[in-house]
Amino acid sequence: MAVDTPARIAILGAGPIGLEAALYARFLGYDVDVYERGTVADNILRWGHVRMFSPFGMNHSTLGLAALKAQDESYVPPADDEILTGLDYADRYLLPLSQTDLLADHLKLGVEVIGVGRPDMLKGEEVGTENRADSDFRILCRDSAGAESVSTAEVVIDTTGVFGNPNWAGEGGLPAIGESAIRDRIEYGVPDVLGSAQAQYAGRQTLVIGAGYSAATTVVALAKLAESAPETRVTWLVRDSREGQPISPIIDDPLPERAALTSEANRLASGASPNVSFQAGTSLDSVTYDEATGKFHVVLAASAKMFHEYDSIVANVGCRPDNKIYQELQIHECYASGGPMKLAAALQEANSGDCMAHVSHGPQSLINPEPDFYILGAKSYGRNSSFLVAVGLEQIRDLFTIIGDREGLDLYKSAITLLK
Ligand SMILES: Cc1cc2nc3c(=O)[nH]c(=O)nc-3n(C[C@H](O)[C@H](O)[C@H](O)COP(=O)(O)OP(=O)(O)OC[C@H]3O[C@@H](n4cnc5c(N)ncnc54)[C@H](O)[C@@H]3O)c2cc1C
Repeated sequence: MAVDTPARIAILGAGPIGLEAALYARFLGYDVDVYERGTVADNILRWGHVRMFSPFGMNHSTLGLAALKAQDESYVPPADDEILTGLDYADRYLLPLSQTDLLADHLKLGVEVIGVGRPDMLKGEEVGTENRADSDFRILCRDSAGAESVSTAEVVIDTTGVFGNPNWAGEGGLPAIGESAIRDRIEYGVPDVLGSAQAQYAGRQTLVIGAGYSAATTVVALAKLAESAPETRVTWLVRDSREGQPISPIIDDPLPERAALTSEANRLASGASPNVSFQAGTSLDSVTYDEATGKFHVVLAASAKMFHEYDSIVANVGCRPDNKIYQELQIHECYASGGPMKLAAALQEANSGDCMAHVSHGPQSLINPEPDFYILGAKSYGRNSSFLVAVGLEQIRDLFTIIGDREGLDLYKSAITLLK
């Protein structure tokens, strides 16, 4: 719905898309509050040691650069073709951006959003009507000391990502037997095995589960670690029976970093390293952790109940959106991806495996039955992991044509002249 300035827009999450959306809104004259449960770029900093696939030119907006240059003429951005680590991306772009005058006073860091509702309207009332917008949103928050508070906003943009909400590692997406009880012992992120986490993995046995780029990154790093710590062993488990080729190569991949990772991971899976053993077509049946020995006992599905011992388990099995935030609102979720339905349907129709081929699907794809509540960024893709920052920037541009009620509005285009 169109919302005139100076309305209050609450943005949930200070990742790249939350920050860029806040910036766009500030340029248009909206009051903005950005709620972030951790620190700026918190999720990205969790995999900060990993080199990104997409070059910096795809990961920033012209508006962001214009704001940074206006703040500090001496600011030098990374080159557009530079491939940054997550940490560099945060340090050299996202953090300085968050400290510009346009954003700094609008960030509420260390504040987790617990839920968003309408004070005068329950989920089942005024079904799908714009009357729901008569009542501002009520945002329930909790700070790092545990204190709860409530704020309000006319528009809410949920950009809380998915990285903090990993999938389960067991068969059928359910927890393996015993997994829930030891969830905090299993690593669901991408550990820095060549850096800060090296001692935990060098010379030890690790089970890596998953068939995506994160699992590939972990396996390739562990194989590299084995060059200096030859006792290091990796068992790489994937659910599909893709013998020796867990990661499907993209023909003429335009992202060389991704192509190199794919090729090295598939080489390792085909038996190229004595330190890596690849097992396709099976998954985790049950797992326990022995406090006395510090080892995991693992039974694989269809392995005649033989158990295996590991020092660590890295489950790179994808992530899902946390829909608790909006469970009191009228959000139509896709029954397959868990993302908002209109966008999920457009993605399904476009059906492109390569994230580089993805584009925003236009303003209409961002509209939910709940007026003025929008889901952008990685969370808008639900369990689909092919989201790129570049798509999120297009989503922001599209969304503000609705909120600002100006068809064709494109501050990114206007900002190009500011940069000249
Ligand atoms: C290893 C790895 C490599 C990647 N490489 C690339 C790449 O090369 N190029 C690319 O475009 N993308 C890449 N991605 C995907 C990338 O993570 C996303 O494109 C990008 O981070 C999405 O931004 P976002 O703002 O939507 O979400 P996020 O970056 O996930 O940010 C969400 C923010 O919301 C906060 N938050 C969560 N819940 C709450 C809550 N309840 N209340 C308040 N705050 C909350 C989080 O702390 C976080 O700061 C990669 C991902 C991984 C895991």
